[in-house]
Amino acid sequence: MTKVSKHKCNTCDSTDIKALYDVPAFDGSKIFKILKCSNCDLVFADVKQSDLDSSYEEDYYSTAYPDYESDEKFHKKNNKLVLKEIERYFKPGKLVEIGSSFGFF
Ligand SMILES: [Zn+2]
Repeated sequence: MTKVSKHKCNTCDSTDIKALYDVPAFDGSKIFKILKCSNCDLVFADVKQSDLDSSYEEDYYSTAYPDYESDEKFHKKNNKLVLKEIERYFKPGKLVEIGSSFGFF
């Protein structure tokens, strides 16, 4: 793993952060680094608020997910695929979902 010096862990304040891999934004407009704290093992994305703001237009949810709650089966099936992808990189353990919406994960 490559050590990344400009970051600080949000959980333990350690600056011993290493880059795991890069992932593209869903629209392909940029690449985000996935980082890992060597002290507490927190894995997080190098994402700034401005990156998020530019990724979600004001009507994002009303157009992309007009009735998110009634599409529960679809979201749960899709989330199982996401979990499978996560399990390719990490051994089983605890996972914290931030921004869980209706909690379908
Ligand atoms: Zn940490």
